[in-house]
Amino acid sequence: MEFFKPIDVKKGPQTLNIENIEKVRCLIIGSGPAGYTAAIYAARANLSPVLYTGLQMGGQLTTTTEVENYPGYPDGITGPEMMEHLKKQAERFGTSVRFGIATSADFSGRPHKVTIDEKKIILADTVIIATGATAKYLGLEAEKKYAGMGVSACATCDGFFYRGKDVAVVGGGDTAAEEATYLAGLCNKVYLIVRRDVLRASKAMQQRVFNTKNIELLWEHQAVDLFGDKGVEGVILVKKKGTPQEETVRIKVDGFFLAIGHTPNSDIFSDYLETDSVGYIKTVPGSSRTNIPGVFAAGDVQDPVYRQAVTAAGSGCMAAIDAERFLAEQNG
Ligand code: FAD
Ligand code: NAP
Repeated sequence: MEFFKPIDVKKGPQTLNIENIEKVRCLIIGSGPAGYTAAIYAARANLSPVLYTGLQMGGQLTTTTEVENYPGYPDGITGPEMMEHLKKQAERFGTSVRFGIATSADFSGRPHKVTIDEKKIILADTVIIATGATAKYLGLEAEKKYAGMGVSACATCDGFFYRGKDVAVVGGGDTAAEEATYLAGLCNKVYLIVRRDVLRASKAMQQRVFNTKNIELLWEHQAVDLFGDKGVEGVILVKKKGTPQEETVRIKVDGFFLAIGHTPNSDIFSDYLETDSVGYIKTVPGSSRTNIPGVFAAGDVQDPVYRQAVTAAGSGCMAAIDAERFLAEQNG
């Protein structure tokens, strides 16, 4: 028997053999805290989950050193170690953890179809999407050079390491306003680097920024480079770029925080799932249910607000319970 994939315009029609089709009760896409937690719960509920890890096995936390705010680790733990624990716990109850990337999805009927690595089709009674979100960076070489050495895209995660120091936040939206205000409570001084002469943030958030004495707004400034020997020691900025008043400014800081938005990893599902204008998958409030029955979303891919490991794990648990109840209802 042969099976036709949706036509990939670049490669033309392709055929798949029956060996490339597998039926599962619960497919989990993503191996961050949301995916592994969903796997632990789904496996313990006898759903025999199959989890595809994606390119970044263990998710965003594998890119950080210390995690100090995940409950249960009084002395902190490194991100990679913590994710290895979660993986082992998911496998202990029978989750099949596999390396592979979901490359397309078809939620037009049931079972749901998800293609892995463009060659294998999983037919799933339930799908839990836990593909996370990716922080946006400016694209400077220096951001890579100083990754984990003063550059961060998460003030709640890393702010504590900069207590009493001077830091800079880039951005002008609600996230930047929130992160700057949060850091102002920990740090000596916070520079808020804004590329225009207005903030995009809501009026209420703007007011909080303006009322915080140790936040200095750098209007119409753009960060172009970072400097420092063993870590970030400062930022090079261009003020009023492209105008006759253009000038280069240097500020000394120990931390450089990006707050210019996130991109949820939801592209391949967007033909079927409702998302907000940024791309976050919409779930029914208080649940992990999407607009497609049997498809659930957990973690950062559906969370524009909290984006923490513990909230991702919590919503992974919700998704597995929702999937289990959905299957129980289907089977009467
Ligand atoms: P992620 O961890 O983003 O995992 C997404 C998973 O989906 C990955 O495994 C990826 O490979 C997979 N994936 C994506 N697309 C596909 C696809 N098409 N097919 C298959 N798989 C796919 N939070 C804290 O609570 N405390 C901290 O100290 C902390 N520190 C942080 C430090 C850094 C540097 C960063 C970037 C984030 C930090 N966070 C921290 C935030 C935390 O990492 C996230 O909130 C959390 O990881 C979100 O979990 P998730 O499971 O939703 O997604
Ligand atoms: P956002 O609203 O898209 O704002 C991104 C900000 O980053 C903008 O000010 C933008 O500048 C700036 N920016 C983008 N690219 C840049 C670059 N290359 N260089 C310099 N600056 C750059 O993103 P967000 O702040 O993350 O918010 C996302 C959504 O979540 C919004 O709907 C927001 O309201 C919501 N949110 C709400 C809360 C809350 O209510 N408490 C908290 C956080 C987020 P420009 O303004 O010039 O485009």
